[in-house]
Amino acid sequence: MLRVAVIGGGVGGSLIGSLLHDAGHDVTLFDIKDKYFKPCGDIVPNVYRPPFPWRVEYEIKDFAFYLDGERVYDVSYRSPKWLTINKSEWINSMRAKLRQMVGNEKPKLDNYDVVLDSRGPYPMDREVVYTTRVIMKVENFNPEAILEFNTRLTGFYWIFPAGEGLLNVGAGFLEDKNSRKLLLEYLRERFTKYEILDIRGAPISIGKVAKKEGRIGEARGLVFPLSGEGIRPSAISAEIAFGALNKGKPLEQELRKGLSTIESRISIQSLLLNWYRSSNISMRRTMLRHFLKSEILIDAFLEDKLDFQGIKESMELIKSGGIST
Ligand SMILES: Cc1cc2nc3c(=O)[nH]c(=O)nc-3n(C[C@H](O)[C@H](O)[C@H](O)COP(=O)(O)OP(=O)(O)OC[C@H]3O[C@@H](n4cnc5c(N)ncnc54)[C@H](O)[C@@H]3O)c2cc1C
Repeated sequence: MLRVAVIGGGVGGSLIGSLLHDAGHDVTLFDIKDKYFKPCGDIVPNVYRPPFPWRVEYEIKDFAFYLDGERVYDVSYRSPKWLTINKSEWINSMRAKLRQMVGNEKPKLDNYDVVLDSRGPYPMDREVVYTTRVIMKVENFNPEAILEFNTRLTGFYWIFPAGEGLLNVGAGFLEDKNSRKLLLEYLRERFTKYEILDIRGAPISIGKVAKKEGRIGEARGLVFPLSGEGIRPSAISAEIAFGALNKGKPLEQELRKGLSTIESRISIQSLLLNWYRSSNISMRRTMLRHFLKSEILIDAFLEDKLDFQGIKESMELIKSGGIST
């Protein structure tokens, strides 16, 4: 039996804590809050099943992309491409099993065999984009997931179905940290009648982290910088770390091996992001127009698999009639 301290009870921390606890290890979870509070888009591509199931609030098949106010591409899939999950409920149900130490005091970690850092973006040793999202009620509910690019800035607005009649709408741009103001202006322009139920902001990691050892999830830099997807990579890193610790295998070696595809896909997105942000507006427009014309690249983007293998899978899906437009 291992004595394990997990710092941060988000996706990665609560999942590895739960897995270790169920396998008979002694786990203590340290977090600054007693319940998960971080805002999210709550979207996961429909290609991953976690060891403890989450509640699906909405299945998304329809997507639309806007470029500088113009609708440039839409697509409908025959089966759900993305899922809106109840992320907080999922995390809190895993945390409920664990011994939790809550507060801002620095934890005493001398008596543990293993200490895992799963503080998400909060080590703050990497570049981040400041994002804000609202959960809101609307009368004219549209089941499409929308991504809207404004080429003056690097980032996007999103509109995701969060449940029947509910939307999760957010904004995050590299050049403007005031995502709350940008989002509220966007809502006023885009919607006539809406009621905001919750508004919250948080950073998303987009840059290389200073340190990976002993870390899982976003703390380790496991976020796709073009999409902001971090739930699935964090969960996968927790599963790999659990496998290593439970079988007494070397943790870092197992994490490096098991995460190699995700990490190389993150690197490809980092290159594309750097290319985009260093381009002028007309170049950005040209790049996005080309990208948004390709149903194969869009499909690969929706599952964050912009590498040779991923693009091949997208070609196969489209060839076999996976989309209906
Ligand atoms: C607005 C927004 C929208 C997003 N949308 C999506 C999306 O739709 N799909 C997707 O896949 N990803 C999305 N992400 C990214 C995703 O939320 C994260 O990548 C993912 O939650 C990372 O999981 P994690 O366990 O590594 O860290 P987190 O979920 O960030 O959890 C970190 C935990 O550490 C705790 N903590 C912080 N500081 C300390 C400390 N000093 N000591 C102890 N504990 C601490 C926090 O309270 C928190 O519980 C979004 C992020 C944001 C901000």
